[in-house]
Amino acid sequence: MFYYYSIVSKPLTSTLIEKETCPVCSKKGTIEVILYMKFAAAIIPMFGLGRPTSVHCTECGHEIKSVNTPILAEAFSQKKYSPGIINAIKNIKANHKRTLWQLVYPWSLMILLGIAMICGLVMQYSVKHTNSQNSEMLANPKIGDIYKVTIDSMYLLNANTMGSKNSQTLFKIVAIKNDTLLMVRNKQKKEGIGVKENEWSTFSRENNAFESIPHKISLKGIAENKELFEFFNQKKIDSINKTDLVKSTNPLHFSKSIARIPNFNGIEVVERK
Ligand SMILES: [Zn+2]
Repeated sequence: MFYYYSIVSKPLTSTLIEKETCPVCSKKGTIEVILYMKFAAAIIPMFGLGRPTSVHCTECGHEIKSVNTPILAEAFSQKKYSPGIINAIKNIKANHKRTLWQLVYPWSLMILLGIAMICGLVMQYSVKHTNSQNSEMLANPKIGDIYKVTIDSMYLLNANTMGSKNSQTLFKIVAIKNDTLLMVRNKQKKEGIGVKENEWSTFSRENNAFESIPHKISLKGIAENKELFEFFNQKKIDSINKTDLVKSTNPLHFSKSIARIPNFNGIEVVERK
């Protein structure tokens, strides 16, 4: 996953061993033990690699133990160090209490990935939940339901035929007669495709914000196509050739799509009180 990574050792604390003498410069009390936190990092810390120590003389610089001594080598070469140094290493590890930040920091990336994964799962669950709720409400409409829809200006009566633009608005169910929903359209419309919840927030939900003449909308069209198919009036139906059996049994044949219910992707397209 990561091609560029580094091993980082950050000093946590240090102590001088009072009674220890340097084997090189023979000075007393100059041997220092440093405790580090070690971790692998790819720009940011990925995972912790424990708390290694180093031992050196502050006077002459003689290095007794490198911070990079592998853990296994350390275990086998314990005899190399004097009892005073072994004790000092033990004490510095036992006495240094890491702050929460020092415990968490080496694992930054793992923690971020974990959080991202949990957020992803929660979002996926909530999108699925909203989508199934939408489908359920679209299939079982109730009077008063408000649908968020996008309309193509091409479908509007006073459409400007020079190119079509998407607008969004609300439709409200005022009556239900079998497969026919009587719906009124909000007087307002706003340009856009309406894929975000907040894009519908500007519309009033009050009754007087809706037109008074209802559209006759096919329930089948909503449930199956996620589109608002408006039935033609009787005069237009009479003028259509109805001899074709298939056509006459397909209710959508006598209607036209006037609006679409936008792709769910987690948005609540039906409002029910
Ligand atoms: Zn020394």
